Amino acid sequence: MNFERFFAEEMAGLKAEGRYRVFADLERKKGDFPKATHHGPAGQRPVTVWCSNDYLGMGQHPAVTAAMHEAIDRCGAGAGGTRNISGTNHYHVLLEQELASLHGKESALLFTSGYVSNWAALGTLASRLPDCTVFSDSMNHASMIEGIRQSRAKKAIFRHNDPEDLDRKLTESDPAGSKLVAFESVYSMDGDIAPIDEICDVAERHGAMTYLDEVHAVGLYGEQGGGIAQRDGIADRVTVIEGTLGKAFGVMGGYITASANLTDFVRSFASGFIFTTSLPPAIAAGALASVAHLRRSQSERNAHQERAATLKRRLEAAGLPVIPSASHIVPILVGDPVACRAVTDRLMDDYGIYVQPINYPTVPRGTERLRLTPSPLHSDDDMDSLVKALSEIWQAMDLRRAA
Ligand SMILES: *Cc1c(COP(=O)(O)O)cnc(C)c1O
Repeated sequence: MNFERFFAEEMAGLKAEGRYRVFADLERKKGDFPKATHHGPAGQRPVTVWCSNDYLGMGQHPAVTAAMHEAIDRCGAGAGGTRNISGTNHYHVLLEQELASLHGKESALLFTSGYVSNWAALGTLASRLPDCTVFSDSMNHASMIEGIRQSRAKKAIFRHNDPEDLDRKLTESDPAGSKLVAFESVYSMDGDIAPIDEICDVAERHGAMTYLDEVHAVGLYGEQGGGIAQRDGIADRVTVIEGTLGKAFGVMGGYITASANLTDFVRSFASGFIFTTSLPPAIAAGALASVAHLRRSQSERNAHQERAATLKRRLEAAGLPVIPSASHIVPILVGDPVACRAVTDRLMDDYGIYVQPINYPTVPRGTERLRLTPSPLHSDDDMDSLVKALSEIWQAMDLRRAA
């Protein structure tokens, strides 16, 4: 077989479909977020980033960077091992205690990323619970889907955010087997929010445990940044809450929080937890400082919500097709992969605005979109520039406007 030709042809196919991924080569500027330097084909240029998941700009927060500097000076660069073999640093232990306390759970377990936490925890639970069936929301993130697949457990997919369909699927399943319902709170591409309370009602009636991905909600919702379940006062109803330290907390890492027995079980059996070097101490220290700060401080969350509401209002006023969203995420429908990339190329090349196009398979075909993530650090001037640029591009490309 001619391997080189195979790879080249596959890539040519992706390009023809308009869904070949091009990574923007960025140099983030501490103290200047959301500004960055773009290293592009035409040289270096300043850009405003409108698609970062560093939702609150915590990646440049002085308390976070100071904690990381201090931890490097105290402990050095890496953790030096897996958690089991010399790589449990005191910062890991402190961070796990903080995360358990944040969510009001007995215990927490750190992973190298949110992806790994979903993949490893769901894979372990679903493969080892006796005769398990996983009930998975149809819009669940790739990391959950991969964890469930890896477990080889039976799987039933329920309609997105639909407790009645979940109820039907649970009713149809074998009453003797164990059941696990996996879903998210804030869905990051549409910005809609799950009916957590109703899903827990249904799960409880069928004796199912619940696994909630709060990746796009931790730090952002709830009086201490514990997510939507905390905001709604129902964190105790959810068996497992999973989160990331890489988005609103601005650093890196993932975690689950649950009962002491459950986390001990995952700690003991999850290959993706045990057989990998633990996070560097400085990462854990930075994440700890970020979580601790956002537990006390409400101002970032308030400003974040205000910025998101203002941006939605201004885009709608300009007649741009904003997809209604119940959260801080602001999607704009383009509906075609080639046009979607053309819009973002123009934003970057002509306006110095960086937005990554979101195409299949991240979203269904025909719903290709821009996904804007306003932060407390996006100014009115930044919004003026963005709305003006999008209006001009929509006009020039004759794109579909709001109904
Ligand atoms: C980003 C994301 C993850 C993975 O988290 P990382 O820390 O980035 O690996 C998990 N779930 C959802 C819904 C996500 O969007």
